[in-house]
This record gives sequence, structure tokens and C-alpha cells, in this order.
Amino acid sequence: MSYESVIGLEVHVQLGTKSKLFCPCSTEFGAEPNRHTCPVCLGWPGSLPVLNEEALRLAIKVGLALNCHIAERLKFDRKNYFYPDLPKAYQISQYDMPVNSKGWLMIQMRDENGGVHQKKIGITRAHLEEDAGKLLHEEVPDGTLVDYNRAGIPLLEIVSEPDLSSPEEAYEYLVSLKAILQYLEVSDCDMEKGRLRCDANVSVRKSGEVKLGTKTEIKNLNSFRAVQKALAYEIRRQTEILDSKGRVVQETRLWNEDRGQTFSMRSKEEAHDYRYFPEPDLVPFTISRQTVEDIRRTLPELPAERVERFKKDYGLGEYDALVLVQDRKSAHYYEECVREKVSPKMASNWIQSELMALLKLHKAAIENSPVGPKDLAGLIRLIENNTISGKIAKDVLPIMFETRKSAEDIIKEKNWVQVTDTRLIEEIADRILAANPQSVATFKAGKKQALGHLVGQIMKETQGKANPKLVNEILLKKIAKS
Ligand code: ADP
Ligand code: MG
Ligand code: ZN
Repeated sequence: MSYESVIGLEVHVQLGTKSKLFCPCSTEFGAEPNRHTCPVCLGWPGSLPVLNEEALRLAIKVGLALNCHIAERLKFDRKNYFYPDLPKAYQISQYDMPVNSKGWLMIQMRDENGGVHQKKIGITRAHLEEDAGKLLHEEVPDGTLVDYNRAGIPLLEIVSEPDLSSPEEAYEYLVSLKAILQYLEVSDCDMEKGRLRCDANVSVRKSGEVKLGTKTEIKNLNSFRAVQKALAYEIRRQTEILDSKGRVVQETRLWNEDRGQTFSMRSKEEAHDYRYFPEPDLVPFTISRQTVEDIRRTLPELPAERVERFKKDYGLGEYDALVLVQDRKSAHYYEECVREKVSPKMASNWIQSELMALLKLHKAAIENSPVGPKDLAGLIRLIENNTISGKIAKDVLPIMFETRKSAEDIIKEKNWVQVTDTRLIEEIADRILAANPQSVATFKAGKKQALGHLVGQIMKETQGKANPKLVNEILLKKIAKS
């Protein structure tokens, strides 16, 4: 029996405002517990919430970038439940009138032959809500502490349609969404600080079946890779149940990274009834179309547009453009490098392979790279004007990382300047040809690979510094004459 999986993601992203959603408390990370609190976010009786306009503006920005309909009227609702991380015993959220709805996002999937194909993923809604506090279970031996610094911080919950059909698509969705959020500068999306959180919903059904299967929801996902792995695990688990004629139970499950498994947390029977009702302390109001258009004008160039520009202006392929663009900082680095008038294709290759590998090794982020975009351009220029070979350049870059010297200084110090002196190469070639009559004969007999052996000998004598193109030319000329 063959099955297909259906996935929908719920992403909570912290909007980067200075103050909380309904009170003036700071949103700064890392303060002493309960320092950023006031009667409003602590839920004291008689306190009244006031909407943070900046949070609404950022939410609309995201809505526009995700091609959503922006609500004409803004309304908040209370989601009631009792838990110690929720001082008011309700969360102010949006129930039936989310600020953003019915949008979409394109994801790019790489296919087997190296091409890229696009898939449109529906966005059901993206609504504003406040965050809850944080429970600290490990601080004291027989109890739990609570920190309300996070209570009331503005979140945007972005809910996708169940349009994703594999863990890989879910991963790409998250990468694309994060790129958009970072380009918009609405959030830094730092998962380690809880500024981006994801719950994954997944079900499995017989291939070709129209009706959706019973879903489970996975929580406690700390990275995009964890989302991918947890989904793969869960799809396997559900498939095995269906294969043995069992029934999947609708429930919330927790991902355990160390064990690589999901575990049941609570079943649907225990699920909350949140008794949503309109928040009486916040009066609904109208969002004028003029306001929406004013916000639309502040949208920056978004990843999809930048990919097109990189393809058009720099002649990059779809995949290279995507990889560079998806991380805003890499895209910036790339453009700074190309501004130095080096080959855009070479810059792309050097950033994606050598530079990325060294950054990883040095645990450095690209914006703090010891070798800046102008420095890298300096290295590329030396290859372009035949001062050094690409092979030598690969030895120069790690030294640039360690010493922070320019490529030019390093090759001078090391005496790595490429030998383009025709007479010197001719001299060496004469000697090598005389010492290897066998290779010459083999080459003349039609075995073209024999030339490689001769080239290799010359490169060895010059410690890799001879210009390979020149060596080839000279050898061919001499063999033809001999
Ligand atoms: P709930 O009421 O349990 O929160 P929702 O209908 O709000 O469920 O959907 C939450 C998320 O789950 C959405 O991203 C949606 O696309 C996804 N989803 C809904 N039904 C399914 C299903 N049968 N299989 C996979 N994902 C689903
Ligand atoms: Mg839900
Ligand atoms: Zn407060």
C-alpha cells in the first residue's frame, strides 16, 4: 500500500518591537526575571491594555509580503485557559478576524537533475497575539518558578494550509519564511531565544485519497532540522499504524531530540475548550486602505525579487541565486564583493564553497567574516589577472582568515606569484620532454591522457606556480614540432 503525507505548520514569530503588545514594558532579552512587568502584563484587576501600533504595522508588513488579505477591521479575542504562565488566565489573541488571511508563499525544491521547481504554499492566516510567561522547573528543587518578562511580548502566529507533502518541503517552507521575515526586518528569528517557534501538524493517507487523515501535532521543535526529522519519524510511525490496520489517534506529541522520537503529550479528549470571546477592553477599529498602502510602500526588496535580479544582473543560475539570497547577510556580502568588479560567477562560487567552509571552521558568521567582501574580491582579482592559479588561491584564503593579511601580501611573502614567464616554462618543458620520451610517444600514438602526466611534472617543478594554460600550450607546440 502506498501512502502520502500531509503537513501544515504553525509558526510563532516574535515581532521586533521595543515594548510589549499591550503595555510599555521592555521586550529586551536576558533581563533579571520579572523586571519587565507592570500591572497590565501581570493581569492586575483594573489595568487596561493599549495596542502597540508598531506591532500592528509589523504584522501588516508580514501579511503583505505573504500576499495576504489585510483585515478591514481589527478585533481581539480572549483565549481562556488556566496555567501559571498566563497571569490573566486568558491570552489576548485573534480568533475569527485575523489581521492577515488567505495568503501564499513560494518554496523552491531542488530536483534530482540539479534544477529547481517552485511550489505555492497557502497561508491560512497570520494573527497577532501576546506571549505567555516562562516556567522554570530546574531552578529550585521542589517547585517551579515563573518569569513574566515574556508575558505580553508581541507574536505573530503564521498558519499554513496543509499544502506541504514532505519533511523536505516543510524545511524549505521554514527557510523561505524566515528569509522573508529577516528581509522585512520584523524579527531576527533567533530560535535559541525563542523568537521563532514552530509546531508541525502531520497526517498520512492512502495515495489518491481526497479526505485528510487524522493528524498529530508535534511540539518542542528547536530547529528547522528538528522539524524535518520529527516529521519523518512521525510519518513512519503513522504509516506503520495504518499498515497494520490500526487507527492514528489525534493528539499532541513532543519531539525528543536525543532519542529521535516523538512521544504522546496529550490526546484530543483532554484538549482545551478555550471559550473564545471578544476582548471587551480593546475596541474593534478600522484599518484604512490608505494605511495599508502606506505600509506596502515601505516593503523592501524581498527574496523572490532579489533572486530574479541576481539572475538578470549577475548571470547566476536559479540555484546559486537562491542560496545566496536566502540568507540576507550572504546576499549583502555577495553584492559588496561584486561591487569590486570581479566576475559575479566566480564570486558566487568562492562564497558558496571556500568561504562558507572556512566560516564554518572558524565558527564565524558571514557578517563578521575575518575576510571581508573587498578582501575576497582582492583574491579573486589575482586569479582573474593570472597572478595566481585558482589552486594556489585555495591555499591563500585560509591564510587570509588566520592572518587577516591581504591576498596580495600573502602571495608576495610566500613567493606564490604564478609563473607566466614563457621562456622559463619553455626551458623546463624541454627538460621534461627529454626525460620522458615514453610519454611523448604515447601521446603521439593517440593517448591524450599522457599530456596530463607531462603537465603534472612541470607543475611539480614550479611548485604549482606555472600557469596551467600556458604549460599546455607550450607542451603541445613542442610535441607537434618534435
Ligand atoms: P487545530 O484546530 O487542531 O489547531 P487547525 O485546523 O487550526 O487545527 O490547523 C492547524 C494546522 O494543522 C494548520 O497548519 C493546518 O494546515 C494543519 N492541518 C489541519 N488538518 C490537517 C491534517 N489532517 N493533516 C495535516 N495537517 C493538518
Ligand atoms: Mg491551531
Ligand atoms: Zn507590562
